[in-house]
Parts: sequence; structure tokens; C-alpha cells
Amino acid sequence: MAKRSALVLAPFLCWLLCTMAVQEAGAGRPGSIGGSAGADGGRARLVVVASIFPLADLVRQIGGEQVEVETLLPPGASPHTFEPTPRQVQRFSRAQVFARIGAGLELWAEKLLGSRKPSPRVMTAAEGIPLFKGTEGVDPHQSFGDPHIWLDPVLVRTAILPRIVETLGAAAPQHVATFRERARRYSVELEQLDRQIRERVSHWQGRKFIVFHSAWRYFGRRYGLQQISAIVESPGKEPSARDIAHLVDVARAHGVHVIFCEPQFNPKPAQVIAQEMKGRVLTLDPLGGEGLPGRNTYIGLMNYNLRALEAGLKVSG
Ligand SMILES: [Zn+2]
Repeated sequence: MAKRSALVLAPFLCWLLCTMAVQEAGAGRPGSIGGSAGADGGRARLVVVASIFPLADLVRQIGGEQVEVETLLPPGASPHTFEPTPRQVQRFSRAQVFARIGAGLELWAEKLLGSRKPSPRVMTAAEGIPLFKGTEGVDPHQSFGDPHIWLDPVLVRTAILPRIVETLGAAAPQHVATFRERARRYSVELEQLDRQIRERVSHWQGRKFIVFHSAWRYFGRRYGLQQISAIVESPGKEPSARDIAHLVDVARAHGVHVIFCEPQFNPKPAQVIAQEMKGRVLTLDPLGGEGLPGRNTYIGLMNYNLRALEAGLKVSG
């Protein structure tokens, strides 16, 4: 009797072992799903590591429960000055897909990619998008073009979303219909966001503003606002006394009364300029992040920025 059940069980055991071996081999291969059995009860999820938070949220909106998304940059860090820590290198090593903006924003990732064998599938959001070139001074984005494309919700909907669907679909073809459906629904939300920004900005269109670093040209072009100058051309460098004096002149000449700083950088230079011209300092946040209330989704972040611009520009010249 015992011998008989062993015979009956043998094919099952063989199947089980084979299945486990196949799953093991699949884990960590670029583009394959596997190796991420987690809180979802062991169902494999595609591991995507995104460089910055807004991109991570967009991937999450499309990938849903089929994707595990991590943001490489912690809240408060800027991609312009970022140096990965050993913990972030470790995090990166799990990526089956690496989602980046491109256009020179993540030059620090080249080393990470070079050291990963096999390398993960790489999605570059800026690929194929016509980019602003640097215009004045020593612009760090000059040779690559301006990378801040995600701050234009229309570019997100028409160019970045299709790229995310394509990348996730290639990495997990069995879920492609689900990804497409989520993208369709999320596009409706982005259209609403676009309409809302258009409607609100229409009351103060054409207004000029000065920002911490040149991140708002795509947004400005889309909605008819003018980012006329930036406090620093290269984030990470402090502006000199001469730079500050020059900005005060620019602000006066254009009748600008609000300077926008960023949570990722020292607000002091903006405060000094504002004091000189008896203006105000408000905050624009190009990055947002997990655990930042109101800025922990892409749409929430854009609404936060809309409110800041409105507070500063509705009344200012
Ligand atoms: Zn930037």
C-alpha cells in the first residue's frame, strides 16, 4: 500500500520540483517576472525601481498590483546632486526594470547600470520627446536638454504613459491588457488635471516668475506662464552675491514679487532676494515623495504646485 502511494506521488513530486526549478531560474532574469514573492501571498510581481518619485507614482498607477515599485531617491534628495548609498545600490540590484527620466538627469545611474549583470530593462521617459536646450550660463542640462518633462501633465499623458505601458507590457506580457486599461483610466484623471490647471491659470496667464532652478519651462510653455530666471543654473552650487544682486535687478525689471524655492535645497538665497525687493518666498516642489501629505501622488504634487503658483502669481505682477 505504501509503495503504491509513493508511485502515485512520484510524478507529482517531480512536477513540483521541476516547477520550483523553473521559477528559481526565472527569478532575476531581465524582463521576466519572478523572485518578488512578498506580502501578496507569494504571487510574483515585477520589480520596478524608478529614479524619482513622480515617475515611480506613474509606474504604480499603471502597474497596480502586478508591479512592485520602489523610488531610488529618498524624499528631500535631488537627482541633480544625488549619490547612491550602499543601501540604494542594494535596492537597485533588485530591479527588473529601471525607470528613469533620462536627458542627463540620472548620470549617477550609469555606474549602477554598468555594474549590474545582467542589466535590468531600462525605460527612458524622455526618449523621443523634443527637449528645451539650455539657454544661459553654465546649464548642467545643456548637452542633454532640459529633463523636467514630467512637470507638464500633457507630456506625461501623451508621451510618458505610453512608454510605461510599452515597457511594463514587454516585461510582463500576460498583463498588457490590464496595463492598457489602467493607462486609459489614468489618462482621464490627467485630462482633468490639465483642464483644472488651464482654468485656474487663465485668470493670471502671462505672469512671470523666478524659481530656484530651471525646472518649470515645460509647465510654463504649456500654461502660458514665464519662468524668467533661476537662482542657480546648476543645483548644488550656492549662488554668489553677484548672482543674487543680478536676480534682484531682474525681479525689479519684470515686476516680480515672488521667488519660489524648493524643499530639496537651501531657501536662504530666495529669502535674501525676496527681502531685497520686499517680496515673498513660496515653495514649488518638482519631486514630492512618499510620506509627504498632499505630495505623495503625481496628481497631488501638481495640485500642490498649482496652489503655490496661484498664491504667488494671482496677485503679483
Ligand atoms: Zn531639476
